[in-house]
Amino acid sequence: MNPPLPTAVATAAQSPLSYVSSEPHSPWGTYLAQIDRVLPYLGRLARWAETLRRPKRSLIVDVPIEMDDGTIRHFEGYRVQHNLSRGPGKGGVRYHPEVTLAEVMALAGWMTIKNAAVNLPYGGAKGGIRVDPRQLSIKELERLTRRYTSEIGIIIGPQQDIPAPDVNTNAQVMAWMMDTYSMNIGATASGVVTGKPLDLGGSLGRVKATGRGVFVTGREAARRLGLSLDGARVAVQGFGNVGSAAAELFAGAGAKIVAVQDHTGCIADPAGLDMAELMPHVRREGGVGGFPGCEALDPEAFWDVDCDILIPAALEGQIDVARAGRIRARVILEGANGPTMPDADPVLEDRGILVVPDVICNAGGVTVSYFEWVQDFSSFFWSEDEINVRLDKIMIDALRRIWDMADQHRIALRTAAFAVACERILTAREVRGLYP
Ligand code: NAD
Repeated sequence: MNPPLPTAVATAAQSPLSYVSSEPHSPWGTYLAQIDRVLPYLGRLARWAETLRRPKRSLIVDVPIEMDDGTIRHFEGYRVQHNLSRGPGKGGVRYHPEVTLAEVMALAGWMTIKNAAVNLPYGGAKGGIRVDPRQLSIKELERLTRRYTSEIGIIIGPQQDIPAPDVNTNAQVMAWMMDTYSMNIGATASGVVTGKPLDLGGSLGRVKATGRGVFVTGREAARRLGLSLDGARVAVQGFGNVGSAAAELFAGAGAKIVAVQDHTGCIADPAGLDMAELMPHVRREGGVGGFPGCEALDPEAFWDVDCDILIPAALEGQIDVARAGRIRARVILEGANGPTMPDADPVLEDRGILVVPDVICNAGGVTVSYFEWVQDFSSFFWSEDEINVRLDKIMIDALRRIWDMADQHRIALRTAAFAVACERILTAREVRGLYP
């Protein structure tokens, strides 16, 4: 069935939320602006759109812990279930000193969109604690995680809301969360979190899944543009979990990794950096800086590198209007969340640079989290090959659907991804009906 044609929609003005700022450059304001942009493509479903502008449930919790020196400290924690129309909440938990409710709300909103864009049977959620985990001992971190899990335990669960790792949380934190939740309910509930260690029901393929998704969507985009990966020049910002896995796969497909930038420096070689040497160098030295046998560039020069494919896989907000005017790639694959500023999008579009947006491009991680959850429920575990075949299919199908929508309405892939996702979410909302 064809997507609805753009129509002017009249939605009754609703009062903004009293407990959060919608200031335009804030994360929540940015999320709201992205929702507003797709309203014209939602046809009759737009009458339900207000549901996307309000999180379903936002829980703020006090997390008191005893420090190693005997003092008591209190931390602020959050779990936001933005939308549950299509299934349980799904989204990571972030430990960061600057986390706010508004930020967690925006991240939860983006999870709703991402999960629907790749058609996973989930709503969107996110959590966080306002803490600098580097200031805590391992025992303090464990106590913090366990108390936080107990506090949000009233709304999470394998059928309700399934947390996962995000910034500064990892498989060990997930193991503590799973154990705490299990102790509280008196049964082992491995499906309550994903991103767990393999020994606790984690999934093969999870570690490299996001990088693999970046590669698979990039390969599909290149095919559609008639760009051969054999000899294609790829520049990567960020050489961590996402960037290094994507770079390795592109190199394996015959591409040349011509530049890599991370927090330790920027290195370049028009003939292609040697991935087999770079990987151990980064493990040993903590970054790409000082890699021998190549050119060291000023970090800002990264944005002028002549390449076919650019992969921002480090931080949000990296591509502003000025950098968008300099980038020389044909395709940008958004490995990071939110690497492109909203006002840079039209600049890239005018310059004919295709952007594969984060909500599709980096959805490989949550997709394999979904596989982990399914495997935990069935207590039957798949091989890494089975994981990768299923991951590739979901990513390719999702991109195809969004590409068709973009072609049909002559809109950017990002707008198309939001439109496809919102259509799915609001259709579920409409079919379920309003209770009571
Ligand atoms: P990571 O911590 O493993 O790696 C981050 C990389 O960014 C490192 O190479 C670091 O050196 C680099 N970096 C940090 N500050 C930088 C700076 N100022 N300039 C240049 N490089 C800098 O993180 P990751 O898991 O690879 O995540 C990267 C991005 O991908 C984040 O935006 C994250 O939200 C997003 N993401 C990750 C996953 C996942 O499964 N890991 C899933 C979806 C989205």
